[in-house]
Amino acid sequence: MSEQRNVWVFVEQTDGQPADVSLELLAKAQELARPLGGQVWALLCGRDVGALAQALIPYGADRVLLADDADLDVYRTQPYARVVADQARAHKPYIFLFGATPVGRDLAPRVASALRAGLTADCTDLQIGDYTARSDKQLYQDLLYQIRPAFGGNVMATIVNPRGHPQMATVREGVMRRREPDLARQGVVEAVPVAFDACDLALQVLSRETRRSTVDLKAAPVVVSGGAGLGGKEEFELIRELAHLLGGEVGASRAAVDAGYIGREHQVGQTGLTVRPRLYIAAGISGAVQHRAGMDQSNKIIAINTDPNAPIFQVAHYKIVGDAAEVLPLLIQALRDKAK
Ligand code: FAD
Repeated sequence: MSEQRNVWVFVEQTDGQPADVSLELLAKAQELARPLGGQVWALLCGRDVGALAQALIPYGADRVLLADDADLDVYRTQPYARVVADQARAHKPYIFLFGATPVGRDLAPRVASALRAGLTADCTDLQIGDYTARSDKQLYQDLLYQIRPAFGGNVMATIVNPRGHPQMATVREGVMRRREPDLARQGVVEAVPVAFDACDLALQVLSRETRRSTVDLKAAPVVVSGGAGLGGKEEFELIRELAHLLGGEVGASRAAVDAGYIGREHQVGQTGLTVRPRLYIAAGISGAVQHRAGMDQSNKIIAINTDPNAPIFQVAHYKIVGDAAEVLPLLIQALRDKAK
């Protein structure tokens, strides 16, 4: 184990732009590093990403390890895993965090396996705490509590890894809050050498196509979501109209997505996106725990449901017991009248 108990974040980037989750993790890492008396280190891989390395310091990095190389231009499992595992072996982080993105989900298990460390996937919270082993009553202090939903979201599990280091986790996007950049923060950028063998580079990327998502649920100040209770694709148009009038985005429950009312990129919840808008409107959504996991941190929640006992009302600030097919047109009309 390292003498200095540092918290590391793998910073994911595309074309020099950091992933939101990486900035969120830098803020969380600062919080975790405080009781440990350690520093926050960011590990950044890519090509020509020196400017981004500097930009990570205001977000909470105390030291940025920069692996800048032509062979790291586009994410490939093998060369990235080589660099990340080599750096972790050399510096021995106490905690190592990755975003639960497609890249993080691919990379983190490879690195954990190379380091013979444990890994908890898809965490929704992280804390520092102690643990007494049941077997020998030994007390382990300052462990990473890796908190995530389990058994289909019906329980929250706290997972600790007392003996294996680093303690590694992937963390869901959007659940941690990023900090406002502090331009006065001081930090160090250290270029690290990289070396690959032929096996590392066996897979070549011949071409790359990118398609920008037209849905930006995470940045939307207002999200209007519809569920299976709406009853059909046509009824979902009311959701779109209300979202449009409020300058927001359209969200959905998984049941609405599965029923084909709307595309999966709109899904909010445990297996969809986590959102924290200023206003979240849930119409015809029961409020299953898996849905609430993605929206219950919203600033204000309005729920519309015919069932007065629907679980969504447990997290709603304003409760409308009624038929969405009647309530939504009234809201739409009221907003139109106001705009006149
Ligand atoms: P329903 O459960 O069918 O509820 C419909 C609601 O609409 C009811 O409360 C009903 O009273 C109300 N209603 C009916 N008619 C009307 C009307 N005319 N007007 C107003 N209200 C009406 N779900 C997610 O949403 N996101 C996830 O990411 C997600 N991940 C999951 C992961 C796992 C591992 C599992 C097991 C499940 C997951 N689910 C997720 C599914 C989740 O458990 C629920 O099944 C789902 O959220 C239900 O969607 P719903 O509330 O739209 O539909």
